Amino acid sequence: SVVILGSANVDVIIELDRIPGPGETVLTDASDRGRGGKGNNQAIAAARAGAPTVFLGAVGADESGDFLLEAQREAGIDVTHVRRIEDAPSGTAYVMVDSRAENAIVVVAGANGQLLSLTDAEREVLRGADALLMQLEVPMATVLEAAAQTKRAGGYVVLNAAPYAELPDELIANLDLLMVNEHEAALAAGRSGTPEELAATIGERVPDVLITLGAAGSLLQRRGSDPVRINAPKVDAVDTTGAGDTFAGAYVAATVAGLPEQGRLEYAAAAAALAVQRPGAVASIPRADEIQDAVRR
Ligand code: ADP
Repeated sequence: SVVILGSANVDVIIELDRIPGPGETVLTDASDRGRGGKGNNQAIAAARAGAPTVFLGAVGADESGDFLLEAQREAGIDVTHVRRIEDAPSGTAYVMVDSRAENAIVVVAGANGQLLSLTDAEREVLRGADALLMQLEVPMATVLEAAAQTKRAGGYVVLNAAPYAELPDELIANLDLLMVNEHEAALAAGRSGTPEELAATIGERVPDVLITLGAAGSLLQRRGSDPVRINAPKVDAVDTTGAGDTFAGAYVAATVAGLPEQGRLEYAAAAAALAVQRPGAVASIPRADEIQDAVRR
């Protein structure tokens, strides 16, 4: 199975002519609710891409929590171990979007911030994982502990270092794959350079490095092998929200399905290309049959 440990948020999307400044009040009636959080998005992407998927995370014991779990269940995710927190609300991202599509975002961590350490049941799930996929929207101590549990049991440990934070050495020691976009790659490498140069620098510390390059594709550098670089399918992008999350979930699903390197990248790129052609984050994440059709074309 693929285990995803991470955040789940309700996105409150507020459309405005202009994002208010300090002391200002702006009225609008254009407000919509969606599902997000990198952990949630990547879990839905992995499950829809065909992997048996378990989500480890926390939501509130509130209606927003039901709203989040409903979509996870519908995608076929095992939500048995998701925590329902009594004294914190579900994580919520308030996304203000102005008429020029510029945005300003406030995230209230809520229940996500309660994942301060692992329970025995969560540790057991992690020890049974073929692969673990994490991001950095839940407390670092828990990410560290989860990586150690899975690594010790022989699972493949993947970190999508987003949003970027300094990575402790004990975390790096337990990673098999670091997955980052170009911006995060420069931060992780501590310098600027071509994607190949950044991957080589990061590759001195982590066995496998995957850098996504937006519309320019992606690059995989595995220790001891030549780098593999692929182009992204040429498509008309309407909404790139969640492209990286879709890529990450589909890539790990393809990995546990046993696809070779090039095949994994192509499968993930096809999934992300489908997602950017449709609006929304979770709503735009494709299913395995759609991804397979796109790969064949
Ligand atoms: P993030 O969204 O995390 O910043 P990227 O922008 O690198 O990450 O996008 C992740 C992946 O999504 C890319 O490697 C690519 O496969 C796909 N993707 C993103 N934007 C486009 C696009 N305009 N056209 C086709 N594929 C895209």
